[in-house]
Amino acid sequence: MATKYIFITGGVTSSLGKGIICASLGRLLVARGLRVTIQKLDPYINVDPGTMNPYEHGEVYVTEDGAETDLDLGHYERFLDIKTSQENNVTTGRVYNDVINKERQGAYLGKTVQVIPHITDEIKSHVLNLGKSGDYDVVITEIGGTVGDIESLPYIEAVRQLRQEVGRHNTLSAHLTLVPFLSAARELKTKPTQHSVKTLLESGLQPDIIVARSEHPLDQSIRKKIALFCNVEIEDVIASLDAPTIYQVPLLMQDEGLDRRVIKKLNLKGGEPDLEKWKGFVEAVRNPSSEIKIALVGKYVEHHDAYKSIVEAFIHAGAVNDCKVNVKWVHSDTITAEDVEAKLHDVAGILVAPGFGGRGIDGKLAAVNYARTREIPFFGLCLGMQCAVIEYARNVCGWDDASSTEFDASTRHPVIDLMEDQKQIEDKGGTMRLGLYDCEVKQGTNTYRAYGKELIRERHRHRYEVNNNLRYKLVENGMTLAGFNPDRDLVEIIELKDHPWFVGVQFHPELCSTVNNPQPLFVDFVKASLEHGKKNDLAVPVNGQKAAVN
Ligand code: GLN
Repeated sequence: MATKYIFITGGVTSSLGKGIICASLGRLLVARGLRVTIQKLDPYINVDPGTMNPYEHGEVYVTEDGAETDLDLGHYERFLDIKTSQENNVTTGRVYNDVINKERQGAYLGKTVQVIPHITDEIKSHVLNLGKSGDYDVVITEIGGTVGDIESLPYIEAVRQLRQEVGRHNTLSAHLTLVPFLSAARELKTKPTQHSVKTLLESGLQPDIIVARSEHPLDQSIRKKIALFCNVEIEDVIASLDAPTIYQVPLLMQDEGLDRRVIKKLNLKGGEPDLEKWKGFVEAVRNPSSEIKIALVGKYVEHHDAYKSIVEAFIHAGAVNDCKVNVKWVHSDTITAEDVEAKLHDVAGILVAPGFGGRGIDGKLAAVNYARTREIPFFGLCLGMQCAVIEYARNVCGWDDASSTEFDASTRHPVIDLMEDQKQIEDKGGTMRLGLYDCEVKQGTNTYRAYGKELIRERHRHRYEVNNNLRYKLVENGMTLAGFNPDRDLVEIIELKDHPWFVGVQFHPELCSTVNNPQPLFVDFVKASLEHGKKNDLAVPVNGQKAAVN
């Protein structure tokens, strides 16, 4: 079977949840036994989102191969249970960078290098490369941004050409638009959809399917109108209504027949979708027995997208524990030793978030101290783990000025530091440890119990490490170094023995949690928090009511 290509564009407003629609369609096709991958083409000039401010762009999602990518790839992995890579996220910056490099190397044999054909060819090759790998029956490509914007044009043109080249019957174009409800007129309006499709048509792209985002159900007459003016069959108008949880969207899309239409149009072979496990998960998310609050202490908490994968990992882990985790967003900039009690007294667990730079460190240290001394389950991720080491070095080992050289270059006790080999590379730039690394876990630890195995592999995105020259002091004072990277003898996990659950990890376990494979440490942390919550009256039973889902 030749690989089929599905292109998903968006109109009117970019925040319509295109990523979730793509991931949901992907899930439905996977549930039919098809091999699917999803790719995101982003029309901005940054080569990747690695250097973008989380306020701007949300979380930077890191793939196994160490690519710093758009957070939509996280949704793809969580929904489809697949691994993505650099090839699944291409930006305009990367496309131009590659084309210019080729031009400098003489690859275009002196030709004038232009948007068409050179930029569009480069875009097409990124789409086709995934198809050519032979690994997939279907490649779904999400075109970021909004149709009609200047920066989207080369992408739409590339899609138009691809449809010609690989054959209409091997490709499908779906367009996501908004059908707003005007309360004054008490009417759903199809004009924005008509206009957005018109803009697509101006670029030579006829959508085969319209996915209409709406706050109200679309009746037959609205569907008919959209079908008539957008040149599609009425069955190809798919309503996408607000859902109580994003994980319900695949089921809503199935009810609307999205996957059936796609299968039919692309002549795909695939059985009836097996969604039993998925439905069980959604049921568990919507009907938990109890609720707990877990604090997420970080400096970007006003912008929840900055911690997307953490929030989703809590939903997966909550479902396993029959419990809803309500994240209490706690700003690390404002929390102090004086008000930490007031801010954290009602939480059953404390997670200190990853991050870069010195802002908010004192607040994070206060949160770690509170969790450690009050025996509240604690989970430190990357910078959160480094803070746990600093707090221990200061308050248990007696090194008052212990710190990380990331934010205190002159400390006499740099318990977190760049390693010697990194210091030399530092002069030349990039030193980030990115992507999958091995970690050997010590038996008898919470982490070992959670994973049930000794060798684990997790994703990284950081520069600084626990200082190997000073780590003896932590051990002398009772901290357990529970996991090491065997190749470079780097500390990956720290734990405390005389504490119900205190784990810090140098890696990012949140990135690999999926619906079908919830991340073991998150599952265990939620379990420990639930136990702590039940003992201390911090867990609320949900008496058969459906929990509000975020
Ligand atoms: N800033 C720290 C480092 O670079 C931690 C990074 C992170 O939390 N991802 O090591």
